[in-house]
Amino acid sequence: MTLHRYFQILERKEKPGYLRLKELKTGCSSFDSFSLKELLNLHREGMKMFRAGKDFKKKGLNLLELKTEITKRILSKCTLCAHHCGANRSSGEFGFCGVPVDSHFSSEFLHLGEEPELVPSHTIFFNGCTMKCVYCQNWDIATAPQGGWLANPEKLAYLIKAREKEGARNVNFVGGEPTPHLKTVLETLLMLNTEIPVVWNSNQYYSLLTAEILEGAVDLYLADFRYGNDECALKYSKVKDYFSVVSRNFLLAFEQADVILRHLVLPGHISCCTEPIMNWVSKNLPGVYFNLMFQYYPVYQASFYPEINRRLTEKERAEALLLARKYQIMVS
Ligand code: SF4
Repeated sequence: MTLHRYFQILERKEKPGYLRLKELKTGCSSFDSFSLKELLNLHREGMKMFRAGKDFKKKGLNLLELKTEITKRILSKCTLCAHHCGANRSSGEFGFCGVPVDSHFSSEFLHLGEEPELVPSHTIFFNGCTMKCVYCQNWDIATAPQGGWLANPEKLAYLIKAREKEGARNVNFVGGEPTPHLKTVLETLLMLNTEIPVVWNSNQYYSLLTAEILEGAVDLYLADFRYGNDECALKYSKVKDYFSVVSRNFLLAFEQADVILRHLVLPGHISCCTEPIMNWVSKNLPGVYFNLMFQYYPVYQASFYPEINRRLTEKERAEALLLARKYQIMVS
């Protein structure tokens, strides 16, 4: 069943992954003397137990603390996203995304506009992004990595609990893009102790290491698949190797947790983007929840690109729906 894990958590038949990670101990009272390589080996060993539903060690720091420590170490040579730019964010350097070591968020509220299964969803909008989409609908947040308020993990954990009491069905980490904020997200989860599903609302352009760290902490990936080839991704979002990175991360996400795939149809991009994505999904993510989105409208810098400086035509919508039928994809 689609979103099986998510509903199991909502019905209190299963715990959110981050709480299970807290139950698994690493046997270490401190990680100080470990190198990053040793921590990663310990993490891989622990995640085998997590997947098998077995106990790891009897005591010590837990697996979520281990993930947090690894993420902190990565920030001194940041490779959280697939730019792998290596910025030393811990000592104040900025990478491609411009996100400082301490996260900022611009808003948090109960969102009623997400997929019906998710609403009301407690969305936390982090500032900054790893992609530079010329048609970004959230460009005010995405292009201001230091805007908004300081995202103190204790404060975020308090807000998550408060929003849950107001009816939130999940906590939804979004942006911008949550990837550069992984440390803050994990630190927030360390301070949380409530049975709420964790949603990672992402462009999927993150590194393999980030995919490993996300495993277990995320219950549902709410994930964009924008382009069916690297040329369009480079032209409109300034990212390289898009298709291989994002398709790999979808495969991993699909193995690890529930997935809602979102594809925003771009004008004039049915044959180069929509069709290759559907073709790939039909072969690799059978039965995935596929949200085919037609709400594109040109904003931000889209006027510099005449070919996407318009809304979709009725013909394009019909074509996209026909393709979904051709590839036997149930779209919502
Ligand atoms: S998140 Fe990506 S772009 Fe930002 S500093 Fe890290 S590797 Fe660079």
